[in-house]
Amino acid sequence: MYRTLVIATRNKGKIREFSGLFSESGLNVCGLDDFGPIPNVIEDGKTFEENALKKAGFTAKVLGLPALADDSGLTVKALKGLPGIYSARYAGEKATDEDNNRKLMEALKGEGDREAAFVCVIAIAVPRGPALIYEGRCDGFIAETPAGTNGFGYDPVFWYPPARKTFAQMSLEEKNKVSHRGKAMAELKAEGAKVIKWLDLRMAEEPV
Ligand code: IMP
Repeated sequence: MYRTLVIATRNKGKIREFSGLFSESGLNVCGLDDFGPIPNVIEDGKTFEENALKKAGFTAKVLGLPALADDSGLTVKALKGLPGIYSARYAGEKATDEDNNRKLMEALKGEGDREAAFVCVIAIAVPRGPALIYEGRCDGFIAETPAGTNGFGYDPVFWYPPARKTFAQMSLEEKNKVSHRGKAMAELKAEGAKVIKWLDLRMAEEPV
């Protein structure tokens, strides 16, 4: 019996968060560091969904185990969806969060339409290919000036109207209730039993 779910990341925080979702499932949840060297996935998809599927599918195939991956980012309407899938490297391959935020503020200088949304896609795949997808979205605006020190990435510039704060001015608990990632994870959690059943069935179809 397979009974292991690999979280396709080396980020310990992410592994901890996803492990929590499956704490009562009886699954052994682990991350990429629990295995030997694995080639890096080339994230050359055109959408969050394509990239999440690529990461989960590749990891599942290489390890012969079910794998979960997520892909997320910020989409800005006036920038035709950018930074989008390029969110982490918007200002360049080695860009820091500050570099990315600075570039975003520059790009929106004088722009009246500051609508934006964070999007998160979670994919769960088995080695032969089939996959499940969960998606979360959080709508807001890009602030005129950054504010707050919590969080990471674009949090200081993402104004969330219902809280009248930026994500970086909200506590992690407050943010998780409404964030793209929080919503995608809540959807996955709500379907937890179905996911386990799906994994059991799909893994039983895998060649031995
Ligand atoms: P990842 O797919 O989770 O690695 O996220 C890619 C990039 O999107 C990050 O490096 C951030 O720049 C941005 N991002 C994703 N989620 C958030 C968030 O919750 N707050 C701020 N930035 C985020």
